[in-house]
Amino acid sequence: MFVCTGFSTGAADQPLGLAKINRRDPGPRDIEIKIRYCGVCHSDLHAARNEWGNTVYPCTPGHEIVGEITRVGAEVTGFKVGELAGVGCLVDSCRTCSNCKDGLEQYCENGFTGTYNSPDAHLGGMTQGGYSSHVVVDQDFVLHLPENLDLAAIAPLLCAGITTYSPLRHWKVGPGQKVGVVGLGGLGHMGVKLAHAMGARVVLFTTSPGKSEDAKRLGADEVVVSKNAEEMAAHATSFDFILDTVAADHDVNAYLGLLKRDGTMVQVGAPEKPLAVSAFSVIFKRRNFAGSLIGGIAETQEMLDFCGEKNIVSDIEIIPIQKIEEAYARMLKSDVKYRFVIDMASLPEAA
Ligand code: NAP
Ligand code: ZN
Ligand code: ZN
Repeated sequence: MFVCTGFSTGAADQPLGLAKINRRDPGPRDIEIKIRYCGVCHSDLHAARNEWGNTVYPCTPGHEIVGEITRVGAEVTGFKVGELAGVGCLVDSCRTCSNCKDGLEQYCENGFTGTYNSPDAHLGGMTQGGYSSHVVVDQDFVLHLPENLDLAAIAPLLCAGITTYSPLRHWKVGPGQKVGVVGLGGLGHMGVKLAHAMGARVVLFTTSPGKSEDAKRLGADEVVVSKNAEEMAAHATSFDFILDTVAADHDVNAYLGLLKRDGTMVQVGAPEKPLAVSAFSVIFKRRNFAGSLIGGIAETQEMLDFCGEKNIVSDIEIIPIQKIEEAYARMLKSDVKYRFVIDMASLPEAA
């Protein structure tokens, strides 16, 4: 075991601050990464503040990790010291259940190990995430990064990228389809870029009229301000697919009513409180309301390779780790363009 530094919180009402974090020494199949950048996902905020009721403290968030490999175990193949690598939301799973065998580790029957706030089978306690100087991860959960893209701007692909890519692929979004993305935040802006790159006609729904120009630059064909009833009504019964990324309470029925017959709306945003679905929203037109959780490791690699080919990265604002609480406050005001990424060079070497 060795000790590194991180930014952690000890309670839902405490700000994050400098802390010591224990990491295991790399075993034969492990890779140690010196973290260069870590994206700031709204899930980090939900977890730090125990909004889902399952946080075990101390908690170090962060699951959009990119950095440089500093040590590899004797049995590691395909990764070398000095290379760049990424880690997303998963660091382990049972590998034997049918879902793991299908490459869907995020749906592991025996419970996947999350990058933070999951029981740590090696050290006891809970796993600690990427707001830290180093991480040690089994090689099967480490990703190769496209070499042609900006490193800091790749980081958000590890959660926001895969969480939007996976449902777009699963529901076979492509040319000839009209696709809605609800919310232009971290997930939403990746959803717009990816759905556009897959050839769909993309409509962005936002509560922030000031984001219209950006949405079009990012790949939206049309922008609808969701508070405007007339604009909403103009799109009734016209969508093949809608991806809802909203992190707070909102009316999903307003969007379900925009789906065509047999259309599907997928919830990826995870608000604290249950969403109210009117039975009639899905009874009429035989509509589907579904959910989707991140993506498996193979699909995450596929998404990174796709982004490399299509030159897709996240639009980011780099912050020093000391500004994390300010970043969370801005996220809550929907004031993020469109992902904060922590420059880990700002993290002091000793806690
Ligand atoms: P984010 O950057 O804060 O973006 C959320 C966006 O939702 C905001 O920018 C805003 O966009 C819109 N919004 C916020 N409050 C709203 C409200 N009251 N009513 C309507 N729209 C509102 O968050 P994120 O990092 O993209 O994460 C979004 C959600 O996805 C979080 O709940 C997160 O935990 C969850 N998540 C789920 C998965 C998964 O696997 N399913 C993975 C990662 C994250 P506009 O200004 O455009 O309206
Ligand atoms: Zn996330
Ligand atoms: Zn499994």
